[in-house]
Amino acid sequence: MRETIDLLIQLQELGLIRDEQRSLHGPLADLASLNESIDKLTEKLDAPAKAIYTRLSKKDHIVMSPMHAGRCSMCGMSLAISQVQSVKQCRSLVACPSCARILYDPDGAKWVAERPKLSSGERKTGVARFSSASLMVPNLKAKTAREAIAELSAAMQSAGLVDDASKLVNDAINREATLSTAVGHGLAFPHVRGVEGGGLTLVLGTSKQGVKWTDTEDEPAQFVFFATIPTAVSAFYLKLISGLVETFTKDVHRKAVLAAEDPESLWKALVKATRYTIK
Ligand SMILES: [Zn+2]
Repeated sequence: MRETIDLLIQLQELGLIRDEQRSLHGPLADLASLNESIDKLTEKLDAPAKAIYTRLSKKDHIVMSPMHAGRCSMCGMSLAISQVQSVKQCRSLVACPSCARILYDPDGAKWVAERPKLSSGERKTGVARFSSASLMVPNLKAKTAREAIAELSAAMQSAGLVDDASKLVNDAINREATLSTAVGHGLAFPHVRGVEGGGLTLVLGTSKQGVKWTDTEDEPAQFVFFATIPTAVSAFYLKLISGLVETFTKDVHRKAVLAAEDPESLWKALVKATRYTIK
């Protein structure tokens, strides 16, 4: 059954990539090959899984919900012990009794930091909701996408947020293999969905000479935004990246951010550059 679950997760990811492409390129997005991949993958599912997927995906593009701390990550429903067991055993597809999405036990990197308490301190605004100076990596050493993702994943682990940077790297590279997250203007948005228990988290790496992102792309990535995305905020993530694209298509912001030589100055430059585009 794990194979079916993996197929379903991959299928959902393709659907979300289609949403990303639409939100980044609008009506100009070229979706033909994506649609073809989606059709091919759908054909690989057995009849019951295909029926469930087709029915659920009409309602919402998130059809798969990672189980976290005994709950459905999407709707928050607390699951009975027997349901938790069934999800872990993975012998059949288990639907959330509340939102009907298919539950699975995620095997990627785990969030280990405490969730910031809402009551403590002042409320954060803008990009500070997702990042901090400790997650800024100016002057990446990386020459390739994999190396860049590894440096940024290591920063997340050093900051005490996740348990295993190497799992993040693998998941992010698998995602890149489906479709590159480089979007032009020297921007790349590698990410890993399904890291539950924390919030959406953003790490920024900059590179003056640029990172060669794929073999086919000529434009190197100078701004690499690496994100871990709890599944439930997938739609919000799209808004966040369109805000970042809007910011970084302007030369004044690109220059200011690229000039920062240490994490503190990079953080200040990012906060300043995004103050009107990230709410
Ligand atoms: Zn649910």
